[in-house]
This record gives sequence, C-alpha cells and structure tokens, in this order.
Amino acid sequence: MQRTQVAIIGAGPAGLMLGALLARHGVDTVIVEARSRAYIESRIRAGVLEQGTVDAMDEVGAGAAMHAHGLVHDGAWFDVGYPQAIGLTEAALASG
Ligand SMILES: Cc1cc2nc3c(=O)[nH]c(=O)nc-3n(C[C@H](O)[C@H](O)[C@H](O)COP(=O)(O)OP(=O)(O)OC[C@H]3O[C@@H](n4cnc5c(N)ncnc54)[C@H](O)[C@@H]3O)c2cc1C
Repeated sequence: MQRTQVAIIGAGPAGLMLGALLARHGVDTVIVEARSRAYIESRIRAGVLEQGTVDAMDEVGAGAAMHAHGLVHDGAWFDVGYPQAIGLTEAALASG
C-alpha cells in the first residue's frame, strides 16, 4: 500500500496549485481526479488571470507557458463612435 501525507480531490486549478505549493514545502501529495488526464489538459479553465494568480503560478514554477503564450492586459478601450475611442490604460489610471 502506498502512503501519502495529503490527498487532494480534484485536479482543477485549486487542486493542482495546492499540490504544487505543498510540494515546494516538502509535503507529499496525491491528487485524485475523476476525469481523464487528456480531458483535464484540454479543457479551458481560465482565459483571464488576475495578477495574484500570475504571481502564484510563477511562485510554483508553472508560469512558463503562460508567459510564452499570454498577452499582458494593460487597460481597456471604449469605442464611442468612429474616429473616437477612449482608452483607459493602467498607467493612466495609476497616475490619476
Ligand atoms: C469555460 C470557462 C472559462 C473560465 N474562464 C475563467 C477566467 O478567464 N478566469 C478565471 O479566473 N476563471 C475562469 N473560469 C473559472 C475557473 O475555471 C474556476 O474558478 C476554476 O476552475 C475553479 O477551480 P477548482 O479547482 O476549484 O474547481 P474545478 O476546476 O471545477 O476542478 C474540480 C475538479 O475536481 C474533479 N472532481 C470533482 N469531484 C470529484 C470527485 N468526487 N473525485 C475526483 N475528482 C473530482 C472535477 O472533475 C474537476 O476536475 C472559467 C471557467 C470555465 C468553465
């Protein structure tokens, strides 16, 4: 029989992140998932990541693909009728 310190139910973002965080602190885990690995790896779970999530993924060493393929969101543009558009960038908002 194989033993582990922590059993995590579900290989969603929460379970995978918890497993990665515990591994970094030397805690042995097993993640139990009802669906197949192929299904888990192909389903869409997040198109937009908050900065805290980006930082957490970097912290556990899972951010390579995110940085390789992701686009940094730095604001929003509102189309108020051609030729005008109002842009709200994070830099503009931060400067007041
Ligand atoms: C199409 C889509 C787009 C989304 N886009 C975004 C986004 O852009 N940004 C964002 O922040 N969030 C987004 N979300 C929300 C985000 O995906 C969820 O907040 C996140 O998946 C929740 O993670 P979780 O690990 O708690 O649960 P889940 O992702 O639901 O994972 C739970 C896992 O547990 C497994 N499971 C359940 N019961 C059992 C059991 N009894 N035994 C074994 N395994 C079990 C399930 O199969 C599943 O794989 C999106 C969600 C969807 C569906």
